[in-house]
Amino acid sequence: MRQYIIAGNWKMNKTVSESVQLAKDIVEAVKDVKKTEVVIAPTYLAAAKVADVVKGTNVKLAIQDIHWKDQGAYTGKVSIDMVKEIGAEYVIIGHSEQRQYFHETEETVNLKVKKTLEAGLKPIICIGETLEQRNGGILKEILGLQIKGAFKDVSAEDAAKCVLAYEPVWAIGTGVTATDEQAQDTQAYARSVVKEIYGEAVAEGMRIQYGGSMKGANAPGLLAQKDIDGGLIGGAGLKADTFKAIIDAA
Ligand code: 13P
Repeated sequence: MRQYIIAGNWKMNKTVSESVQLAKDIVEAVKDVKKTEVVIAPTYLAAAKVADVVKGTNVKLAIQDIHWKDQGAYTGKVSIDMVKEIGAEYVIIGHSEQRQYFHETEETVNLKVKKTLEAGLKPIICIGETLEQRNGGILKEILGLQIKGAFKDVSAEDAAKCVLAYEPVWAIGTGVTATDEQAQDTQAYARSVVKEIYGEAVAEGMRIQYGGSMKGANAPGLLAQKDIDGGLIGGAGLKADTFKAIIDAA
């Protein structure tokens, strides 16, 4: 049985003090949650303070991105050791906003995945198609490229530690969610690609989140699907009660 994983990706929202408050509110709201893994991903700036808030609780910390280099002259970037030191457990890699606005490619996703695993942290690898790609009939091709690219030269043992997040670009922040059936079909396909690479055991064990306008109202239908093992939440993750409503649906 795969454990549900609900993660709030705060993106470029919340100041440090607001982040600390939201983290406290979430810790309080989910303190009795046991069966679902709860993760939050604040900005870099807030991460160390949020780490102090979640320490010793059932809320885990994720970072929104890393650089694959260990250190050096990379203005604006953060290394895996910095992330590890504050106690983060997950790293979000390859988000469509990184791909769209910050030149993330299959190669950089792969470098970040390998660096994260090498350090003993767990990647949440984002995949997903644009509306043009879906309408153009190349959904499977795109997902195949993204999944195979991310896992290039990653061992089965390491792949088993990763989480996939299927986020159709057209559903992110738009209020338009993929239907239960669209999400299920696509995620079943994603799992079949993992199976092609690593075989049945890794594929069946891998958790695949859905992301894109998920909220309390549509979460029950999505999370009831066989191949949907959680959510990567944007907007609805920015308030403890709307985030908790999704966790309750898992
Ligand atoms: P929304 O939930 O705001 O659509 O964002 C989804 C997302 O991109 C999470 O990473």
